[in-house]
Amino acid sequence: MMPENRLFPLLREAADRWGTPLLPEQLDQFAHFGRLLHEANQQFNLTRIQPEQMETLHFLDSLALLAVMPLPAGTALLDVGTGAGFPGIPLAIACPHLQVTLLEATGKKVRFLETAALQLGLTNVTVVQGRAEENALLAAHRRRYPLATARAVAPMRKLVPWLLPWVEPGGCAAAYKSLAAEPEIEESAPDIRKYGGVLEKVVRVPLHGTEITRLLAVIRKPASGPVRRHRKPQ
Ligand code: SAH
Repeated sequence: MMPENRLFPLLREAADRWGTPLLPEQLDQFAHFGRLLHEANQQFNLTRIQPEQMETLHFLDSLALLAVMPLPAGTALLDVGTGAGFPGIPLAIACPHLQVTLLEATGKKVRFLETAALQLGLTNVTVVQGRAEENALLAAHRRRYPLATARAVAPMRKLVPWLLPWVEPGGCAAAYKSLAAEPEIEESAPDIRKYGGVLEKVVRVPLHGTEITRLLAVIRKPASGPVRRHRKPQ
């Protein structure tokens, strides 16, 4: 095992810069999660990202949200289309005070996430199997989350209806996008309006030590916004 002071230097440096320094136990959780992902990836296709890129393309990238907004203690975060747990699991490790719900459509991935959360001792993580467009309409989940996230799930016009129904008034959705997605974000303005949101900001977050700049689109649902009624799915 690597001595702690050499584990994940870029991740540690970024977390420090973004005001959320990682303790040795948290670095161990990241390392453990990386091993679980690698093992599961031998059985089925969980992620295309190779172990040597895990630190930057998965962990560091997921934490980019910390550069953009404060995440107060107790905040309930919903990660839509979490796949192998991104950005939800790194955020749950870095911020144990967050309550993170991971939503994923594929059963195999859901089972991996349940086992991983248990093995990592992440008591602040809940896993839900389902499709965003169906579950978002359920009374138990609608307008319940101060924060909804999604990375690499769908283009903005499709993603907005998958994210905004979950968000409580005053809360926001954060879409992890690439720099090339700026036109896509602009084109989604009518969808954002339709779902009662306002594009609050689009922030460029350089991932130091890599060539990558992450774009985060933050959509706010105003505290006293219109209530959009949904028809039940057929
Ligand atoms: N967010 C992860 C995974 C991206 S791949 C990451 O950044 O690494 C997209 C994931 O979203 C897949 O695991 C897919 O099963 C899931 N997904 C796609 N459409 C969905 C939907 N409508 N509801 C829930 N999950 C969905």
